[in-house]
Amino acid sequence: MRLHNLGFPRMGANRELKFALESYWKGTADADNLLTTAYSLRQQHWNVQQQAGLDFVPVGDFALYDHVLNTSLMLGNIPPRFQQGQGANELDQYFRMARGRAPTGEPTFACEMTKWFDTNYHYIVPELAADTDFHLASTQLLDQVKEAKAAGFNPKPVLLGPLSYLWLGKVKGQDFDKLELLPRLLPVYVEVLQYLAALGVEWVQIDEPILVLDLPLAWQNAFESAYNQLQSRNLNLLLASYFGELRDNLRLACNLPVAGLHLDAVRGREEVARVLDNLSPYKVLSLGVVDGRNLWKTDLNAVLAWLEPIHQRLGERLWLAPSCSLLHVPLDLGLETTLDTELKNWLAFAVQKLDELRILSQALTQGRGSVRTALEANHAAIESRQTSTRVHNPAVAQRMADITPALLQRASTYPERAKAQQQRFELPLYPTTTIGSFPQTQEIRKARRDFKAGQLDTASYHAAMQAEIRYAVEVQEQLGLDVPVHGEAERNDMVEYFGEQLAGYAFTRLGWVQSYGSRCVKPPIIYGDVSRPLAMTVEWSAYAQSLTAKPMKGMLTGPVTMLQWSFVRDDQPRRDTAFQIALALRDEILDLEAAGIGIIQVDEPAFREGLPLRKTEWKAYLQWAVEAFRLSVAGVRDDTQIHTHMCYSEFNDIMPEIAAMDADVITIETSRSDMELLEAFSEFAYPNEIGPGVYDIHSPNIPTVDSMVRMMQKASRDIPPQRLWVNPDCGLKTRQWAEVIPALANMVEATKVLRSVV
Ligand code: GLN
Ligand code: ZN
Repeated sequence: MRLHNLGFPRMGANRELKFALESYWKGTADADNLLTTAYSLRQQHWNVQQQAGLDFVPVGDFALYDHVLNTSLMLGNIPPRFQQGQGANELDQYFRMARGRAPTGEPTFACEMTKWFDTNYHYIVPELAADTDFHLASTQLLDQVKEAKAAGFNPKPVLLGPLSYLWLGKVKGQDFDKLELLPRLLPVYVEVLQYLAALGVEWVQIDEPILVLDLPLAWQNAFESAYNQLQSRNLNLLLASYFGELRDNLRLACNLPVAGLHLDAVRGREEVARVLDNLSPYKVLSLGVVDGRNLWKTDLNAVLAWLEPIHQRLGERLWLAPSCSLLHVPLDLGLETTLDTELKNWLAFAVQKLDELRILSQALTQGRGSVRTALEANHAAIESRQTSTRVHNPAVAQRMADITPALLQRASTYPERAKAQQQRFELPLYPTTTIGSFPQTQEIRKARRDFKAGQLDTASYHAAMQAEIRYAVEVQEQLGLDVPVHGEAERNDMVEYFGEQLAGYAFTRLGWVQSYGSRCVKPPIIYGDVSRPLAMTVEWSAYAQSLTAKPMKGMLTGPVTMLQWSFVRDDQPRRDTAFQIALALRDEILDLEAAGIGIIQVDEPAFREGLPLRKTEWKAYLQWAVEAFRLSVAGVRDDTQIHTHMCYSEFNDIMPEIAAMDADVITIETSRSDMELLEAFSEFAYPNEIGPGVYDIHSPNIPTVDSMVRMMQKASRDIPPQRLWVNPDCGLKTRQWAEVIPALANMVEATKVLRSVV
């Protein structure tokens, strides 16, 4: 039985990759420094995986920014605006595609970025056009295979499969079927496979995660012809699907001419029996039995009871792996020195998940007795979590039982509320605002570090944060923004900040997970019933309000996003956890209102991301997600204005639900798509107010007045100006003040131009 892994976290125990990237972008370190860091991380990660007892190490799962972008480079799919002729710096071309600019080369607008399936990882969207021409343009994967071999590892290269690559790509400004590009794409894959075979590679993992989606017939059919062409006599293909069940793609997946199939046997456990009945007798079946999407310990005894008969049947043809790449979980529980032992005993991070695989494999091949102690310890841990009193809070259960439909309903309809709000705030046409955060400067981070380390007392920390808020408010006053924010200086992260103040949540010290590029998040762990012991934001917002006569916007993270960006309990429905969070937020919102905060934004950037991958499950999700939002906000008065914010979302197919959230104002990310994302709102005749983002905050480029006027004019053609707001795409925490101030000054200038022509 072989053990393998689909992918490993990239950043390093101390986020070495993040810091090397950022130094390179800033120009404080050269490319050599970055590439050396990357090289040594790959070596370390292979080493950990080999030590853990894996038979192969994945190669090609590592990326400086994103593996889909790596694939685009390998395939030579580089949009013309990034091509700068002979002698162009390839590394910087790569970063310009991701971020719009790099130490060399002309700044331009970056490629779109969007969420990888239902995770919080973002990939760079391949741009596809009718004349896109593919050719093998990068030897990076081959070089890394050599690198692994030279260091004595057994490499299993990982490729993003051609169909998933095309599916994830986007056709821009043209009307043609991207599937037509497949015949041009396949020869490059064949060439790559030939090179890999020549390097002596035995197995190649080819990822086709779209096999867990509802696929049109043409795409289903394309699989067969594509894999007929990719079939190779010189190496074995392991076709990997993950993140769900195959369902109507099951027979297709089982029948493709590949040597092995990997399945997500956590989310897709139920259908493994059907796969066994359909799989030809020469194929390897890799079962992903350890959850790559969550960090609870696997119930090893239960998995074994299920696996033993399968092992009997398949023998050596059974391989074991995590359900998906371990990119989505933190690196090593061993680094957590501050988690209490009870909780720690319930968890497994990437390194521990590999240990679980080894225990399972030993139990299967040498009998459970050979790992008795490990299995007993696992059993005790599973049982302790099931029965712990830390998990259940009767007061929360009571409030949950008391939820009535009336709690989900604002007192009046939007038109009535809008009147009350206009009377109270007297905002001008095209009100300007920002999405919440301002730059998290070195000083802010240092103050927080020192505070957490006990080197800065509470009073000094508070004074430092208040000084930041004061500065942010002054800047906004000077810029002339209509609805200021306090800037979120005191928040490390929009989810962690709240989780830290709620009961039922726990935190890691180094549990980083990559979100996009160098950006990492440390998702909290929701292990028990959620409640709010004390007010969370009132003091900061009230302080900020005391500094200005303008209406200060309060800032909270919504229940779906709190859920979506945390590791959540798997012992109750997600809906119940969302409602518990909503009840806590409801109390916070009423406290803010009582403290004089008249405008409150409840961010739900992860609302769309929460959609199940299969359409049949959307309705149930949307129902409770909308209800959770409404449960949070519906308690306020008519003249309290509720905002929500969503980024990276496509709204076309969820407009009724977006409208049902009934926020007074929604701000969305639209600039990267040139306002395309706004179309859904006009087509649906969205009834409330909208702030379509006028500039891309992920790029350090300063947006021009003209570009923003043009975007808003485009928006005004579809949406009545009386219901339009002007704001950036998202929060500004990742930017610097030197970028933010001129960008917002231009935004305010653009608004003046707009108002003057109405
Ligand atoms: N209020 C948050 C901020 O500005 C929103 C972030 C987000 O939508 N991702 O940082
Ligand atoms: Zn956002």
